[in-house]
Amino acid sequence: MVSKAGAYLVRATRLLCPVCGKTPIFPRALTVRRLWDWFTPFDGCPRCGYAFEREPGYFLMAIWAINCGSGSLLGLITCLVLALNFELPLYMLLPAVLLPAAAFNVLFVRHSKAYFIALDHLLDPHERGGGDDRGNQALDPDPDPTQPCETATPVR
Ligand SMILES: [Zn+2]
Repeated sequence: MVSKAGAYLVRATRLLCPVCGKTPIFPRALTVRRLWDWFTPFDGCPRCGYAFEREPGYFLMAIWAINCGSGSLLGLITCLVLALNFELPLYMLLPAVLLPAAAFNVLFVRHSKAYFIALDHLLDPHERGGGDDRGNQALDPDPDPTQPCETATPVR
């Protein structure tokens, strides 16, 4: 489990699919044309069929807990360092704290989602299957060893 977690962590840091570790989760930064593309992952991995967004609202925890939490922590540390080492007036302290934290949140949102996907895949592995729900089928935790392995349906 630890080696899996390490592999998923490395893949998420590189913004790659947690299952195969080869396909990017997001469009490359230089190819992004709209802000929406920056925030939105691909539907799934064409190699292994893993669905990056399992359901609507899937990334709510990634945004609120990981992204906003780390941005708030950065803002708090910045505020403490500036307040304790420099006697800045409030009108200078607020932008010095809020602007870097806001920029960090925009730049870190992809990694927040990738870390959430990796954590979710580590704790609750799913594969993409057919059907109207676009997959979201739990992997069989105890597959029959006499049966051949099933592969996930490729993403269309
Ligand atoms: Zn993959």
